[in-house]
Amino acid sequence: MDLFNVYPLFDITPAKAKGCYIWDSQGDQYLDLYGGHAVISIGHSHPHYVEALRSQLSQIGFYSNSVQNPLQQKLATLLGEQSGYADYQLFLCNSGAEANENALKLASFATGRKKVVAFRHAFHGRTSGAVAVTDNPKIVSPFNSVHQVTFVPLNDAEAFAQAMDEEVAAVIVESIQGVGGIRMAEDAFLQLLRRKCDETGACLILDEVQSGYGRSGKFFAHQYAGIRPDLITMAKGMGNGFPIGGVLISPKIHPWLGELGTTFGGNYLACAAAIAVLEVIAREKLVDNAREMGVYLMDKLRGFSMLEDVRGRGLMIGFDVPDAQKTIRQRLLDTHKIFTGAAGARTIRLLPSLALTRRQADEFFEALEEELVEA
Ligand code: PLP
Repeated sequence: MDLFNVYPLFDITPAKAKGCYIWDSQGDQYLDLYGGHAVISIGHSHPHYVEALRSQLSQIGFYSNSVQNPLQQKLATLLGEQSGYADYQLFLCNSGAEANENALKLASFATGRKKVVAFRHAFHGRTSGAVAVTDNPKIVSPFNSVHQVTFVPLNDAEAFAQAMDEEVAAVIVESIQGVGGIRMAEDAFLQLLRRKCDETGACLILDEVQSGYGRSGKFFAHQYAGIRPDLITMAKGMGNGFPIGGVLISPKIHPWLGELGTTFGGNYLACAAAIAVLEVIAREKLVDNAREMGVYLMDKLRGFSMLEDVRGRGLMIGFDVPDAQKTIRQRLLDTHKIFTGAAGARTIRLLPSLALTRRQADEFFEALEEELVEA
């Protein structure tokens, strides 16, 4: 049977991974500055994480949500302490799109409305609800028409005010757009979204699937703006590669039995992975490291005259390369064995493990210097 061919793949087969490095089946070592779309938060194969999964698997691997699972409460308690949202409620699911789907559903239940305001260049996932609020023409399908969504340019206060009325259930926004090219929602704009949602009774959903879990140098990127959303969605870095997602839900929103549900969400192994991730983040002070390394990387990147518009927060960084340098990502991989990400034709995205060291960053800069001089 053939695999359904939807992924443009590099001809590399990872055989081993540790920290910020991957080794392929030929034994070649790669510096991983992409972390499989920002999922590697604490580093590959962290010993505490590996042991947590191994010991959980030897006790109880999977069971559904029809029995008590104390690991869910342990995860919720740790997450509350570390994120500053101890008073919120946690719903666990399996992916970022599913988290957004459930957040949209909750907003609709809470308000009795169905209109949504979303932002241009946003990416919220590939389920029909998440696609409907995603402004990416490549993944639009006929299902989009079932949702009433108004798209507004990010940071355009006037267009946003015009889109808002008392029929809007939810405003959904990424604090830092990832797939959209590391475009930042301004702090003042996020504050405006909060105020307008309060005025109209809409729910404010912050999609922190890519920017959350310490990546920005705060636990959630919207915390730079000092706002508290009604719903926060998360996934990627939460399980360091193990599939898990979640929604943080304001105490103003009250659940009823059967309102949401999932077979696999919050299973024992996923919880064990997510608990181990939070333990390592706290123990190794990885949120602080992300903030400090972000400053280090962005300062140095701004020193390269050929690179334009270096932007981001913490270890969620983007920069543009001129047309003549469009192959730089492939050259970094082929010649220097360094993985980076892309967003569009000219934007390079860096989403390394939050445990990245200066030495590893310098390895990248040496390669960049060689490539930019030689071109
Ligand atoms: N939201 C954002 C901001 C994302 O970047 C992504 C994935 O890239 C998603 C949602 C969807 O997450 P998943 O692929 O886990 O469904």
